[in-house]
Amino acid sequence: MSEGLTCDVVVVGAGITGAACALYAARAGLDVILVDRGPVAGGTTGAGEGNILVSDKEPGPELALALLSARLWRSLAEEFGPAVEYEAKGGLVVASSPDGLAALERFAAAQRAAGVTAEPVTGTRLYDLEPDLAPGLPGGVHYPQDSQVMPALAAAILARAAKARLLTGVTVTRVLLTRAGAVRGVRTDRGDLHAPAVVNAAGTWGGDLAALAGVHLPVLPRRGFVLVTEPLPRRIRHKVYAADYVADVASDSAALQTSPVVEGTAAGPVLIGASRERVGFDRTFSLPVVRALAVGATRLFPFLRDVHATRAYLGFRPYTPDHLPAVGPDPRVPGLLHACGHEGAGIGLAPATGHLVAQALTGRTPDLDLTPFRPDRFTEEAA
Ligand SMILES: Cc1cc2nc3c(=O)[nH]c(=O)nc-3n(C[C@H](O)[C@H](O)[C@H](O)COP(=O)(O)OP(=O)(O)OC[C@H]3O[C@@H](n4cnc5c(N)ncnc54)[C@H](O)[C@@H]3O)c2cc1C
Repeated sequence: MSEGLTCDVVVVGAGITGAACALYAARAGLDVILVDRGPVAGGTTGAGEGNILVSDKEPGPELALALLSARLWRSLAEEFGPAVEYEAKGGLVVASSPDGLAALERFAAAQRAAGVTAEPVTGTRLYDLEPDLAPGLPGGVHYPQDSQVMPALAAAILARAAKARLLTGVTVTRVLLTRAGAVRGVRTDRGDLHAPAVVNAAGTWGGDLAALAGVHLPVLPRRGFVLVTEPLPRRIRHKVYAADYVADVASDSAALQTSPVVEGTAAGPVLIGASRERVGFDRTFSLPVVRALAVGATRLFPFLRDVHATRAYLGFRPYTPDHLPAVGPDPRVPGLLHACGHEGAGIGLAPATGHLVAQALTGRTPDLDLTPFRPDRFTEEAA
């Protein structure tokens, strides 16, 4: 490797996004090297849940990306479904008051107009869908397009399916440019990789990678904890969350938010995710945060009060100031493309991101307008 390898495109970051970029680029006929300083899924991908949600997105560019991605996940599931623990289980968003239900139904109506399947659920029907929900809830909305994968497995399976050259334990230290300022490869701590294109799929570290190419891209960490219970027989059938969750996801606040998303898994444990707070890369365990998640979950499903939590884990979502990822070519550096900054939706959005990046790499017109995702849309002050 010290003599330098050559390829069509170097993808930096072997999380779910880099794996999807490598897969779609390879299937578009490109020779790909996928490089990560750690193992596959050693970044945020290994610390996320696996929700693939359209339900939490308001009409706009992120929802369009999510709808495309949900469709691509369904076709990837035909190839790899059991291997990535894909479950088309659907989401159930639950209101806790009549006013909350009215607001949720207005939100769902706007989503329906944008192509989402969102079915109103009466108070009675709620308990047909989820018999163990707390009594007395007024209703909710069912989202059959929501689904789930196991993120670390999914990244590993997509990376393997890409049949790209995979270099793990290799850190990119510089993006190499021609005299004219175009990409000619990357420098790593193990030698140079030569390529006319580089994809920045470095997740929460995407801003650092952009800086190695001399461009500004604000990607910040937004910490999240997930609480994991002992394995249980399946009692929670959908992804279930309270309507407040949508407001938390869209919030700009740095303060703690803990509306829970509760889901059963194929292996048995129930996952209770996920808090949101901007506290840098602080890895300190926080009992108040985890307790707040537990309280929220038991409010939805009282039987969880008698269930043991076995552990909690945390990760750092890649957050940009306008909550949209950076996807596509960087007009400031020819040959540099970005695929990072997906915040709390990167597992769901990975296939669409990989697909659009592969289209850009091969000179095709992307299926979605990439303007809202332009990497140069931030001013230096935006961070
Ligand atoms: C608690 C929590 C719950 C979540 N739940 C969900 C969910 O339910 N659904 C969902 O869609 N999303 C969820 N997310 C968000 C999701 O996990 C992320 O958006 C996604 O994993 C980002 O993937 P990525 O591949 O872009 O980044 P990462 O997985 O972080 O991958 C980036 C990789 O780049 C590598 N890298 C960085 N710099 C360099 C360098 N210089 N050289 C070489 N390699 C480098 C890193 O080692 C890393 O492996 C959650 C996140 C958290 C924290």
